[in-house]
Amino acid sequence: MSLDPDSPLPVGRLFLTEPGWRVELKVGSDREYCFMIAPGQDFYHRLGDGEIVVRRGDERLCLACAGRRGLLVDRPKTLRATLGSVEFEAQADDPGFDLGPPPG
Ligand SMILES: [Zn+2]
Repeated sequence: MSLDPDSPLPVGRLFLTEPGWRVELKVGSDREYCFMIAPGQDFYHRLGDGEIVVRRGDERLCLACAGRRGLLVDRPKTLRATLGSVEFEAQADDPGFDLGPPPG
């Protein structure tokens, strides 16, 4: 089954969430299997010629299983989590304050 060229791809942008995984193309008819069992199945499914897979060491996953395992997300990780915020409250008659290193 080929994708309809007039329809959007079934997935948008994808990002790997864990380091150490690589994206590869399964090439050839060698029997290679996904390392996860799909829901509703009781066997390891075969990877197909030309299938895009993710790999870490000997472990290979089809994209569907990688997504179920949480390895694929649709937006990049932020560079670092926000450090939060600090709120200051002041009254109209406060003399004010300075921000800076502690005196001494
Ligand atoms: Zn799979």
